[in-house]
Amino acid sequence: LSDRLADTFRNLRTKGKLSPADVDGTVREIRRALLDADVALDVVKDFTGKVRERALGDEVNKALNPAQQVVQIVNEELIAILGGEARRINFAKKPPTIIMLAGLQGAGKTTLAGKLAKWLAKDNHTPLLVAADLQRPNAVQQLQVVAGQAGVAVYAPEPGNGVGNPVKVAKDSIKWAIDKQYDVVIVDTAGRLGVDADMMKQAADIRKAVDPDEVLFVIDAMIGQDAVATAKAFQAGVDFTGVVLTKLDGDARGGAALSVASVTGRPIIFASTGESLDDFEPFYPDRMASRILDLGDILTLIEQAQGAFDEEEAMKVAEKFRTDTFTLEDFLGQMQQLRGAGSLKKMIGMLPGAGAMKEQLANFDEREIVRTEAIIQSMTKAERQNPKLLNGSRRVRIARGSGMTVTDVNQLVQRFEQAAKMMKTVARGGVPQIPGMGPI
Ligand code: GDP
Ligand code: MG
Repeated sequence: LSDRLADTFRNLRTKGKLSPADVDGTVREIRRALLDADVALDVVKDFTGKVRERALGDEVNKALNPAQQVVQIVNEELIAILGGEARRINFAKKPPTIIMLAGLQGAGKTTLAGKLAKWLAKDNHTPLLVAADLQRPNAVQQLQVVAGQAGVAVYAPEPGNGVGNPVKVAKDSIKWAIDKQYDVVIVDTAGRLGVDADMMKQAADIRKAVDPDEVLFVIDAMIGQDAVATAKAFQAGVDFTGVVLTKLDGDARGGAALSVASVTGRPIIFASTGESLDDFEPFYPDRMASRILDLGDILTLIEQAQGAFDEEEAMKVAEKFRTDTFTLEDFLGQMQQLRGAGSLKKMIGMLPGAGAMKEQLANFDEREIVRTEAIIQSMTKAERQNPKLLNGSRRVRIARGSGMTVTDVNQLVQRFEQAAKMMKTVARGGVPQIPGMGPI
């Protein structure tokens, strides 16, 4: 490669170093998105500080443009806060595994008890639900109904004996579970509408009495800005080993998840997504990160783009442009890579600040790529390598073979020539364009 060309590509590749203005603009957008998603302000500040630092740091991702790079950093940081790898239940070495549920009234504890039991039963466990909420009228009955739906057993105080002592019920239930060989005990507890000392003490006493393997803090995702105070109160009052986020079927964007995970440092283990017992799944930090930023499956797209615009490949293509040996076959290869990158429109649409390009792309028809492919695939190898061979009768044959018209074929050849010319400019240091996009 000539020195000049090598310089051009070096510049393109090291454009990963972002200007502070680039970063600030993007960070502002992220801040707004997080606040919109109801993430607590302190958490947002912490988070954007970290992202800014990393974006301005030395991290240079060769194949991506700056905006994508920031998005990737954001995603990584979000996933890190949300617990990185999805964490699963810690089962006791010696059964029964004891799982205690804690949280405000209405958070979804009793419903969760049923969901968890059903989920575990499917996995060949034999769960026992324990009614240690003796506060709310009908709480025991509600748990019995839920257990019936899940097809699992309940341990509850005798009817009429309802005022009972929840700590004793919880404690007795463990003996019962060992005796009857249930391998998981799920202890449902009472909640209040707001945090209060009595409730906290009762939960702490139950915890002491049953020494659970997991204490799951159940929190309604719709709680919004109150998430932080509530989570802190439960951490101080009872402490917990994991979090379950409920009502994710609502329109909450998941800010509570980020706030709670961030201020407590505890992993979110399950997500509850509806009133039916089957609306329940393990929590996936990466999915929640996407949901919070409302960016769709962005990581996958970035990975695909990384693969597609492989650096080495770019160098090879550049060399071809420079030496005028870029063929229709290469053109097809480029196009197929673009398709591998997923929906181009979607990808560009994700980039903050890609406004102008987005407009141009609004008119870009992805089916065009498919049609182009069909035409090129109907050419012989010789024709692909040397488009000058394409005389009138060959074009008629190709049109027939690909189900297109001769005009389509003509247009393609014309676009190929334009693209080749354009890329030659790029290779000499002009403005980069994506080959195969045609005159956009
Ligand atoms: P508890 O007071 O913490 O035991 O809460 P409950 O389990 O009694 O749930 C309170 C209400 O929330 C009930 O009407 C449940 O049906 C409902 N609920 C629980 N989990 C979910 C969920 O994930 N999505 C929706 N939409 N409703 C839920
Ligand atoms: Mg309940």
